[in-house]
Amino acid sequence: MLENIRIVLVNTYHPGNIGAAARAMKNMGLSRLYLVNPKDYPSEEAIRRASSALDVLDNAVVVDNLRDALEGCALVTGTTARLRSVQWPQVDSRECGELLFNESGQHEVALVFGRERTGLFNEELEQCQYLVNIPTHEAYSSLNVASAVQVLSYEIFMASRQGEQQAAPVIKDKRDRPATADQLNGMYDHFYEAMNEVDFFGARNAEHVMRRVRCLFSKARMTFREVQIMRGFLSYAQGRRGPHKGE
Ligand code: SAH
Repeated sequence: MLENIRIVLVNTYHPGNIGAAARAMKNMGLSRLYLVNPKDYPSEEAIRRASSALDVLDNAVVVDNLRDALEGCALVTGTTARLRSVQWPQVDSRECGELLFNESGQHEVALVFGRERTGLFNEELEQCQYLVNIPTHEAYSSLNVASAVQVLSYEIFMASRQGEQQAAPVIKDKRDRPATADQLNGMYDHFYEAMNEVDFFGARNAEHVMRRVRCLFSKARMTFREVQIMRGFLSYAQGRRGPHKGE
């Protein structure tokens, strides 16, 4: 099940952090590393810091945007050193380990890490169903990104050792499984398009409205069938001929 867990590093600036993250992952039995637009990669420094985790680096998937890194994931969690103004479902590091491990028995899951200086941008956090915070002393809440990978990989590993996985059977009909990040993004794009067409945004800030729409549906953990119903409805509302036929 640990193979269903992706660690995604967004725009990492220092290649040494990529190597250290690969090592932290391998220590804890994780192997699937995704790199979104790394600043300096491949790199000697990353190789040095990975030590005996070169296989994790060799198999790392490099993509140029977060959406591509999350394709096929039915649970996306995003890390943050500080709490944000919009109320999003949040878990601490321990709960995150249990959540990711438990769900990895059913489908692909992702844990996303941000840039060294600026973390994850709002539009990236909005692609996550949960925000994850590692509790720290109040004087300094921001860990080095590879250290954060270490702490959370450890929590996933500990959850796996405790065998806390609920033996929920894999749902047979794919449409009744939780929607993946790409299916949800398709729905959000469709919402935006339909709202725009009827001039719903008007003087409202479209970005803020869409953030709340994402927040609302994130809490629902929709299945693909439910996404299809919403999109079918939107297509009707837009005056298109038939109901929407899937992705
Ligand atoms: N100023 C940035 C800090 C970035 S630290 C911010 O406020 O987000 C770089 C990355 O390390 C973060 O994007 C996150 O992925 C991880 N990280 C650092 N401290 C963390 C914490 N306390 N909890 C969870 N993730 C953390």
